[in-house]
Formats: sequence, C-alpha cells, structure tokens
Amino acid sequence: MPSPIQQAAERLCLDCGLCCNGVLFDQVVLQPADQIAALSARGLKIKKRQFFHQPCAALCGSLCQIYAHRPTRCRAFECRQFQQVAAGKVDENDARARIDDVRASVASIELLLNRSEHDNPRKSLAQRVATVVEHTQDESFSASLVTAMEALGRTLAEHFRVEKP
Ligand code: SF4
Ligand code: SF4
Repeated sequence: MPSPIQQAAERLCLDCGLCCNGVLFDQVVLQPADQIAALSARGLKIKKRQFFHQPCAALCGSLCQIYAHRPTRCRAFECRQFQQVAAGKVDENDARARIDDVRASVASIELLLNRSEHDNPRKSLAQRVATVVEHTQDESFSASLVTAMEALGRTLAEHFRVEKP
C-alpha cells in the first residue's frame, strides 16, 4: 500500500499529463524491454522501431489509456514536482498550482499559435512554435512566441525536468 505522500504524488499525474502531451517532451525512446508489436497494437505510433512522438496517441485528456502496459521510460519518469511531493518536500496543492501555471502558459502560447495557418497541434509544443516562427514574417508575433516559449522553458527546467531515466 503506497504511503499517503506517495498517493498524493500519484494523484498529481491523474490531472496533469505534461510529460505525455508534448509540453515536456517531443518523443519517447523505446527501451529493449519494450514490446513494439504489443505497443503498436495498443495504439502507439512507433517510428523506426525506436520511438514515438508526443503528444502521445495513448493520452486521453490527462490519462494514459495504456497505463498498465506503458513503455519503460514512461514507467521510470517522475518529474521534479512528483519527486518532491513523493518525498514530502512539496505540498500536493502547491505542485498542482505549478501544474496549473504551466497549463495557463501553454494555453497562452496556443492562443498565439492558433493565429497561424502553419500550426499543427499534433506536434509537440516546441515543434509547433518552431514551425510557426519559421513561417511568419511578423517579427513582433514571432518575438512574442519565442519570449513566451522561453519563459515556459525556464519554468519547466526549474520545476519539472529531471535527468532522463
Ligand atoms: S509531469 Fe509530473 S506530475 Fe505531470 S503527469 Fe508527468 S510525472 Fe506526473
Ligand atoms: S504511453 Fe502513456 S505514459 Fe507513455 S507517453 Fe503515452 S500516455 Fe504517457
């Protein structure tokens, strides 16, 4: 039975999905123990038998639809907020507030992206921004996107990113 603080950390993930939806990562690299055929049958779009892109095809809302069968790296990844809540160093509500802040920043960036015909929501957020910036002639628009993305990147680096497992 997980401890109360471990349960609190696990509750965070149920309402988050930032490590699956293309905000934290562009892709997930498969590991030797991962069963490519089985993962493909469950809906993951495996590329070159090596990785799959994010946003993940198995993500529905903020929930993994193949949780019990998720790949190795998905099992191993715990963001810094998760780790700190699980260690009792950060309160669950404070971690939720950080996740909400990131969501708000992502929503602001998506509002900008929506102004471009070159936006592709099936790509990761970083890829979407790069593509839109590449195609726009509007320097002010481009600068707004880059500035917003850099600010988000700093928040993610400080509060969510950890060394890859
Ligand atoms: S980013 Fe962290 S809190 Fe969010 S789902 Fe991933 S591990 Fe859980
Ligand atoms: S398989 Fe599940 S845990 Fe892994 S990236 Fe996709 S939604 Fe997230």
